[in-house]
Amino acid sequence: MIDNFGRKINYLRVSVTDLCNLRCSYCMPEQGIDKKEHKDIMSLEEIEEIIRVSAKLGISKVRITGGEPLVRKGLVPMIKNVSGIDGLKELTLTTNGILLKDYADSLKKAGLNRVNISLDTLDREKYKKITRCGKLDDVLEGIRAAKEARLLPIKINVVLIGGFNDDEIEDFVNLTIKDDIEVRFIELMPLGEASSWPEESFISNEEVINKVSRLIPMPFKGHGTVARMYKLPDSKGKVGLISPVSSHFCTYCNRVRITPDGKLKSCLHSSQEINLKGANTRELERLLIEGMMSKPSKHNIGAFHSTQTHRNMNEIGG
Ligand code: SAM
Ligand code: SF4
Repeated sequence: MIDNFGRKINYLRVSVTDLCNLRCSYCMPEQGIDKKEHKDIMSLEEIEEIIRVSAKLGISKVRITGGEPLVRKGLVPMIKNVSGIDGLKELTLTTNGILLKDYADSLKKAGLNRVNISLDTLDREKYKKITRCGKLDDVLEGIRAAKEARLLPIKINVVLIGGFNDDEIEDFVNLTIKDDIEVRFIELMPLGEASSWPEESFISNEEVINKVSRLIPMPFKGHGTVARMYKLPDSKGKVGLISPVSSHFCTYCNRVRITPDGKLKSCLHSSQEINLKGANTRELERLLIEGMMSKPSKHNIGAFHSTQTHRNMNEIGG
């Protein structure tokens, strides 16, 4: 579907739960969140139907996210059903990687193409600190399991946080030398828990180029591309810079999002939502078209210009 600003909307991100087994300090409150009643979250069957109708409307790429998607019971059979939907070319998942060692193989067999794994530090103590409870070794095991299961190429998401992991930029970039992985640095957005964080926490992705000047820019692919790609000379992998704050990519944005309670968000930073929960197939089609066509031309967040969404990232899914 082409929206009012000539953008082809072909990418759907579905947050299947707002619950998580970690408490990353920029994302979730320390005490966690109240568990919603069953009736208030979408069933996996409802999610499948939304994906099926979206595919008819031209969605060809779906990302399953959360909260932590792997804590949602029944996810693997749902992925199996979804992977068979006509028109879907890419089915991916974003995870913190903690449970990946248990699920990588069955996810691949169910038809998942690949995974993005979030990892903000390579230091055990710092990992525990930022996630408030996570074990780095679980994620590293998860990455290995994803490789063995051939959920490739593996992308590692690193949220850049001033004073926390800017001293590890080079270490993360160096992971791409021998491994065919993509390390993606993401600018911290002033959203949810991070909206009250101090100025120094928000650093631009320019810092990556400043710190690792031997990175070579790769050709820009245009539509749907949110990452500016770079490479080290002779490296197997790549480095992506995703800069939602310092350089908006709204002109190329091809995505819409669904929250666990069934709200369609056509822009991450807008408060505008359309309720899909309870809609039948015909209504879903109409509501999805309405949502895609009402996608705003751009948002205007900056490091200190806060988002208009009232939701935390664990509900939206990144
Ligand atoms: N739990 C899964 C994970 O961590 O990969 C999936 C959901 S998580 C909300 C998706 C992505 O959003 C993660 O890479 C996370 O680091 C990122 N994220 C969360 N809050 C953010 C913020 N304020 N700014 C930028 N990225 C954020
Ligand atoms: Fe959980 Fe992902 Fe949020 Fe961390 S970033 S608390 S892993 S949802």
